[in-house]
Parts: sequence; structure tokens; C-alpha cells
Amino acid sequence: MENLIEKIKKLKQEKNAIILAHYYTRPEIQDVADYLGDSLGLAKKAKETDADIIVFCGVHFMAETASVISPDKKVLIPAKAAGCSLANGIRPRDLIAWKKENPGAVVVTYVNTTADIKAESDYCCTSSNALDIVNSIPEDQLVLFIPDKNLGGYIKKVTGREKMEVWDGMCIVHELIDTDTILKRMTEYPEADVLIHPESNCSQDPKILDLPNTYMYSTAGIINHAKTSPKNTFIIATEQETIHKLQKDNPTKTFVPIADNTICVNMKKVTLENLLDCLEKEQYEVKVPEQMAKRALIPIERMLEIK
Ligand code: SF4
Repeated sequence: MENLIEKIKKLKQEKNAIILAHYYTRPEIQDVADYLGDSLGLAKKAKETDADIIVFCGVHFMAETASVISPDKKVLIPAKAAGCSLANGIRPRDLIAWKKENPGAVVVTYVNTTADIKAESDYCCTSSNALDIVNSIPEDQLVLFIPDKNLGGYIKKVTGREKMEVWDGMCIVHELIDTDTILKRMTEYPEADVLIHPESNCSQDPKILDLPNTYMYSTAGIINHAKTSPKNTFIIATEQETIHKLQKDNPTKTFVPIADNTICVNMKKVTLENLLDCLEKEQYEVKVPEQMAKRALIPIERMLEIK
């Protein structure tokens, strides 16, 4: 493993490449990355980097977003087949038809979508800024929120917004995090704070939201809470590799995954071996066609401006 890491670091320097990695990737990928972040942080980093090559250790839609933001850079993804159930949950023709049924509506699109969907959208958002973005839209305008039913439902509930429709898509990993799963873990660790990602199935259930020790956060919010809280034990209700970063930042605290199965197999497709291949062969390039990229950039830039 050491040998692979050395080779990756050397090649990265020679080629003026930057490695961006998502919190859900394998621990060894997180450790070799130049920057580790959630979708919003990674998008910002892709915008500001002066590297010639961006190697995106994550899933395909994330690399597409980086390519839209930095069209002059070569964007590479080590695992070509790393897709996302959420991004695959809506097709451009579905969105176009939905817009036709609702003329004048504002389309707010979670960043976990393909570039052709973003090109049909008014705003992009992440779980960090979805609330601010929806709140920035006048109350009398209908919002069409895509594609995540759990995040969208949570935003609708928190804002109390009546004029908001939510698409029926979901993340297969966060869909496993339901009310019973949370309550079961809480009985095992009654002293813990429970940090829940709003893509989770339980995100709108008052049985969970009204409990004193439960908090709904983006990944960045979960990391911040764990760092600043005086508590010692935390139940982590999101993709479980996030615990690698949490444990590194807080070596004396205890982090418990919400369940054994909260694992995104697509994020795990990036390995040290295919990362090295990616740098050596400059594969697999992700490039969004120019016209589509121009249209997709508008909602992405609005997202980056809001927070
Ligand atoms: S965790 Fe869910 S939303 Fe994130 S990449 Fe995996 S399938 Fe997609």
C-alpha cells in the first residue's frame, strides 16, 4: 500500500493534479486526497483550484459538476462505473414534462443529479444550503424540488412552504435509515447525540425530529457538531465511512454507525489501484458537452453564491 501511495503522490506532483475525495470514499482514499469534503466543499474546491488535472474520487455526477465549473481543466474519475441511485432517479424528459405541467415553477435541484438535469434547473443546492436556497425563493412561487424525496420533504416541513412539490427519488443507502433503526440504536446508546443526514428515510418523522438528542445535518454539519459538542458518544446516521474523518478529528470520542449496511458501494469503487491507473493513463475523462455545460453552470453558480 505504501508503494502505491508514494507513486500516486509523485505522479500527482509531476502532472500538477489535485485529488478531491468525498467523505464516503474508502479511508485510504480519504488519506491520500489533497482535499476531503462533501458535495458543496468539493464543488468550491474544483472552482478555485489552479491544478491542470482534477482527479475526482467520488461518483460520476460529482466529476460532471467539477467539469462544468472548471471546463478548462481535465477532470478524471478513477472508477468509470461509479454511479448514484439518486442521480439516476430522474431523466431529463421527466423533468421537462414536469416543468410543462407547472409553468412558471422554480426548479431546485439537489446537486446529486446529472449535468443534463442541472441544465434544465433554476437552482442547484446541497444538503448544506438547500434550506437557504428554498427560503430565497418568493413564497408565492411554486418550487419543484428534485430528485430526493427525503431531503425535499424535510425542507418542505421545516420551511412550512405550501407551494412546493417534491420528486419521488431516493438514495438507496439513506433510505435504509428509518425511524425504527434510529430508535433501536438509541436504546443501545441512550447517552449519544444522534446526527442524521436529511436524505434519510426518517427525516420528516416527528417521532425522531422532536427527540432532544437528534440533529438533522449535512455531512459538514455532522462533522462540525461532533467537533464542538461536549458529548463523547455520537450515533452517525449517514454513510458510515464518514466515521473515518470523525474519528481522526476527535480521537477520544466514540462514533457508532447507525447500522451495518449504510455503505455506498459506488463510492467504494475508487481504490488506490484505480486511482494510480487514473493518474498514469489520465483516464477516465469526464467532459460535459459545451452547450449543456453552459446551461448547467447557471444553477450551480447560484448555489455557490448562496453559501
Ligand atoms: S450515498 Fe446515495 S446519494 Fe451518495 S453517491 Fe451513494 S447512492 Fe448516491
